[in-house]
Amino acid sequence: MMNLTPTELERYRRQIMLPGFGEAAQQRLKASTVLVTGVGGLGGTAALYLAVAGVGKLILVRGGELRLDDMNRQVLMTHDWVGKPRVFQAMDTLRAINPDVEIEALCEYITPENVDRLVKSADVALDCAHNFDERNLLNAACVRWGKPMVEAAMNDMEAYLTTIVPGETPCLSCIFPEKPVWDRRGFGVLGAVSGTLACLTALEAIKLIAGIGQPLRSQLLTMDLSRLEFTKHRPYHDPNCPVCGQKAAPQASVVSSLSPVLQLVPG
Ligand SMILES: [Zn+2]
Repeated sequence: MMNLTPTELERYRRQIMLPGFGEAAQQRLKASTVLVTGVGGLGGTAALYLAVAGVGKLILVRGGELRLDDMNRQVLMTHDWVGKPRVFQAMDTLRAINPDVEIEALCEYITPENVDRLVKSADVALDCAHNFDERNLLNAACVRWGKPMVEAAMNDMEAYLTTIVPGETPCLSCIFPEKPVWDRRGFGVLGAVSGTLACLTALEAIKLIAGIGQPLRSQLLTMDLSRLEFTKHRPYHDPNCPVCGQKAAPQASVVSSLSPVLQLVPG
């Protein structure tokens, strides 16, 4: 286990105090690497809460430059950065907030060429990409490599969240066998809505890694934030799913390929 420095013990003192948390959970966070795809209002804000919680390493993957109309929700960005690659500003802001966190920033989108390398290097992935092509690539790679994936998406004032554990829970393809109507660009979004979903997304990853609480395993949480209605569903786990089903990639090695960090997490 990775020992905590005096600075870390003080920085994280208020969460170490939480019942069931303690230094062991903090050490698990420090030993973990989280991949965040899509570093916008959702992924960027989730990365912020992982950084302040003391996740050891964050890998941020997001192509493109910052636009003025990103600024109503992308809280890691500053006005003077408009026109420059978002992901590097996200890295600089997170380093300034918590210099103990290691951060790797890639100004790329998720592609068939980079997805396996990225997933293999992480213990958990956060799926915050802005389209379902990237989401499906990440889901399939997480199933291939047996890595848990926190799946979060929103559309206007609605959002959903679930945690996918390959070999145990339905995967994204089980839950959405066809492309959801949500796969469109340029929908309206409030920063408080993407931020709410982002906090819950970060919390799912923290629970999985630290071994506290109950992550949304095999549960789909849907949220109507215009009315603050939250509903949990039990999604169908398709035995014939083309991505995670029995006829797809073999699952036998999944458990042994889980990282030492996650093997320590009970239940
Ligand atoms: Zn599946």
